[in-house]
Amino acid sequence: MAITGIKTKFHPDAVLAETLSQWIGCARVIYNAKCDEDKYLRTYARKYLPVGTWPKPDQTYSQFKTELTPFLSECPSQILRNSATIWCQAYQSFFRGVGGRPSRKPKVKGNYVWLTSELFRIQWINDVCHLELGTKANPAGTLSIKWNKSRIPAQSPKSIWIRKTNAGWSLAFSYDDGVLHQEVSNSAHLTYLRTLDAPTLAELITPVDRGVAKPLHTHNAIYALDAASKRKFAWRDKLVKRYQRKAARQVKGSNQRKRTLQRIAKLREKDKEVRTNFWHQTTRALANNSKVIVLEDLNLKNMTKRAKPKVCEITGKWLKNGTRAKSGLNKALLGVGLYQFEQLLTYKMRMADKPLFKVAPHHTNQECAHCGHIHPSNRISQSDFKCQSCGHADNADHNAALVIRKRAINLILNSGTELAGTHKNVLKLRASVDKSVNSCKTVKAKALGATSGLSKKKAA
Ligand SMILES: [Zn+2]
Repeated sequence: MAITGIKTKFHPDAVLAETLSQWIGCARVIYNAKCDEDKYLRTYARKYLPVGTWPKPDQTYSQFKTELTPFLSECPSQILRNSATIWCQAYQSFFRGVGGRPSRKPKVKGNYVWLTSELFRIQWINDVCHLELGTKANPAGTLSIKWNKSRIPAQSPKSIWIRKTNAGWSLAFSYDDGVLHQEVSNSAHLTYLRTLDAPTLAELITPVDRGVAKPLHTHNAIYALDAASKRKFAWRDKLVKRYQRKAARQVKGSNQRKRTLQRIAKLREKDKEVRTNFWHQTTRALANNSKVIVLEDLNLKNMTKRAKPKVCEITGKWLKNGTRAKSGLNKALLGVGLYQFEQLLTYKMRMADKPLFKVAPHHTNQECAHCGHIHPSNRISQSDFKCQSCGHADNADHNAALVIRKRAINLILNSGTELAGTHKNVLKLRASVDKSVNSCKTVKAKALGATSGLSKKKAA
């Protein structure tokens, strides 16, 4: 059984949109009031109560319904209760060490409402889904949504989330697909793969090299957006920048500025939709057509850090550190959505009971797939690779894919530990790779040291 979900956009009429906005606002008021109350109680406990006594988070919310907040009485009480429940659950997560202490939600972050089963009913009339919102005492209206009936669970979902952003309204819920999956662990797959020989493994494994210029490169295929989509991405980027300049000139809080921000959000939403669609199609193709997939174990968070500032040791002045180039690279890396690819591929492979492994990513684009020689100058340009030792020439990404496959085969056949999940192999490989690279670096450093010594002498 696997939990899966559905997210749809919808377009409410003006009346329903206003009611939903009011519900969202009331839910946020309760959430923020719970945060404030908790802060007050903790301060009180710290000042006046014995050491170690702290208020216990609870789900009460009726104390916030006062003369000052008459709008809370017009909202269905279930919504207020749900908001208090979300707050309490967030607090429990904080106690478990999963997240931070619940904090006040500003308008941009807290634009959602959680509706439990009392607040909605789903009815199918002629294959069109009618979603009745609200309670009997507080009916809000009906939404008609064109859903593919075969994909929607027969049983009504237990709760739904409604979210409002500048780009529009969306509705989401999760359900159990009811299909029995025999979860085969990666270690079980590995025991089987160890019984095979290297040529068979090379046929089974699909290595995937990820990059910016070509998002995916396997040993026999390239997955990238088509030229028209890329042009549209660039066009939307240009428009977003123009609207951002416009928004900067406009008066804060004005309706005109609001409209500009909505336009920016809609353009960004379109980007997101195109990218998500591309990754869904690509991961589906990969999961269907391959038996074993091997990725590089990229640490995207570290890869997209900003450039470190540089200071001159002698004068103490700031030096150029290539911030602009690094920021551009970071933006390009994040814009491709490599992490999203990993997430989508992981669940699709798991549903198909196929293994997905990761290998050490170090110097995959500088290593020769033919002889194993690692050197920065092997990579002539973004797309070309030429080994300085054996003269092997190839497309750089294709070469990297072959290196990944080679590493995976080595690890499957020669290591005693698991391939994915443990970092032992990664560390082991990193140590061996670093050793050979360090020897290259020392030669380089020596050469550099000699020149800098000369320049110092000249300066003296
Ligand atoms: Zn070579």
